[in-house]
Amino acid sequence: MTDTAAIEVSDLVKEYGDLRALDGLDLRVEDGEFFGLLGPNGAGKTTFIEILVGLTRKTSGHAEVFGYDVVDDYRDARNAIGLAPQEFNVDRFFPIREVLEHKAGYHGIPPKEAERRADAALKRVGIYDKRDERFDWLSGGMKRRLLLARALVTDPDLLILDEPTAGVDVQLRRDLWNVVRDLNANGTTVLLTTHYIEEAERLCDRVAVMDEGTVLDVATPEDLMSRGTDTITITLAD
Ligand code: ATP
Repeated sequence: MTDTAAIEVSDLVKEYGDLRALDGLDLRVEDGEFFGLLGPNGAGKTTFIEILVGLTRKTSGHAEVFGYDVVDDYRDARNAIGLAPQEFNVDRFFPIREVLEHKAGYHGIPPKEAERRADAALKRVGIYDKRDERFDWLSGGMKRRLLLARALVTDPDLLILDEPTAGVDVQLRRDLWNVVRDLNANGTTVLLTTHYIEEAERLCDRVAVMDEGTVLDVATPEDLMSRGTDTITITLAD
């Protein structure tokens, strides 16, 4: 761990008209942590992630990734992050290997190296044999694997997974967990949003419970469970 946090946000606000999706969010995730974000639908988890990766503009407040301001230093901040989003936002017109190569190219990785990284990422998540297929030809589980592979192609220091195992079967869930655990053991910081408390328990060093755009509690999964607080009730009530 270094002094520079992987993620540091303070008083982060996002308004959509009258709606406050983020209401003064404060959060620090340490370099190397496996950090979980729990919270019911509409808590603001995706909005928070989208601000970190530059997809959504904050209304006010401060957000840094590895010391880079996510607005002012957006290129450096974005190069440090790999995101596997909730939605399947993959280019449908190219073989998946090319999708990964394009992504690498966008981040300034030369073609030969991009090819090597695309193949390595596809192998890592177990879909190298699908490399010439199009996204739409893949099953739901394969699509989830591809989103993870695409996030890995830039070799990110911070991997953000937005509900990566929503609606996937047990085997795939375990496979994804193994890949992500291994990455974290080798130094990648992981931010995971999930609705599954047992997923957070198994994987995360610490967990933040969010509701209505703020953090209600930050603790180890064990402490959170043993407290049996309202925060858990909110999460499980979802
Ligand atoms: P889920 O677990 O369902 O993914 P979440 O915790 O990720 O939920 P967000 O998707 O961040 O929550 O949504 C937070 C709030 O902001 C919700 O009330 C949502 O309806 C609202 N919201 C999100 N995006 C927009 C948008 N583009 N325009 C208007 N309101 C939005």
